[in-house]
Amino acid sequence: MIELVFLGTSASAPSVQRGLSSHVVAYRDARFLIDCGEGTQRQILRSGLGFRRLNRILITHGHLDHILGLAGLLSTFMRWEAIDRLEIWAGAWALERIHDLLYGVVLRGARPPLELQLRAIEAGDLLEDDGFRVSAFPVTHRGPGCFGFAFEEPSRRPFLAERAEALGVPPGPLRRDLVAGQAVTLPSGRQVGPEEVLGPLRRGPRLIHVGDCARTDDLVDACRGADSLVIEATYLDVEADLAHEFGHLTARQAARLALDAGVGHLYLTHISRRYNDREVLQEAQEVFPHVSVARDFDRIEVRRQDEPPSKSS
Ligand SMILES: [Zn+2]
Ligand SMILES: [Zn+2]
Repeated sequence: MIELVFLGTSASAPSVQRGLSSHVVAYRDARFLIDCGEGTQRQILRSGLGFRRLNRILITHGHLDHILGLAGLLSTFMRWEAIDRLEIWAGAWALERIHDLLYGVVLRGARPPLELQLRAIEAGDLLEDDGFRVSAFPVTHRGPGCFGFAFEEPSRRPFLAERAEALGVPPGPLRRDLVAGQAVTLPSGRQVGPEEVLGPLRRGPRLIHVGDCARTDDLVDACRGADSLVIEATYLDVEADLAHEFGHLTARQAARLALDAGVGHLYLTHISRRYNDREVLQEAQEVFPHVSVARDFDRIEVRRQDEPPSKSS
């Protein structure tokens, strides 16, 4: 199951309650850090996630509130051997700034003590591992090369427990073999094939993450049918002119996108200190009811929207 942990949910500057942008997406053994604002290391520690396997970082864009934590993180990894490779993925402009920060300030001519890969993102698939796919799509914000990310679990055929029951397949290893696509022989001697107990192929749960963002009309296709959508909501409608001026969304605009794209649940992040959570939630709820305002250390599990809702908050 895809899980996401909000490490930092504040816009532009940290507040007492909220750290700067950073999220961890995990699926089985794979982990991705999305953005790395100042203070991310401490948030990682406080979340209990730890640094192990945290060697892939996806950057939404190159603004300082999303990248300054990379310097501290690399500095820690330089003294600590558990990470031997660090991949940082970002658009070309952000990557240039990250290069300056890491090679100009942190390393200053020293060789990185780990394999440091700065990788330019282009729209499309970033990686595919055993059916689990991570892809990037362009996002409009201030400056070029801003990206959103899609995470999708492998498609699978659901196990039809009632069918198995009716055929007399006992719970346990025989059912596991059938799910794995193998025919089995029941204690009675009867043969059962996987096609008898597996439903039609269905796409896996899908999570969309969008960082800072100025408009939503160019995101509807990328977000269509997503089970969970994480996106910024820096302003409220009363300050829509400021949102427009600085290339951000209002809570209402984010909710409108969720409605238009038919997403399952909307999580708002990149929250400004000028508002309280209740106001942000209320404005979004008027447009789209399935919405939460994320707080630091909230965890979500991404389930298909036609399955029972997530237990965690
Ligand atoms: Zn930002
Ligand atoms: Zn920004």
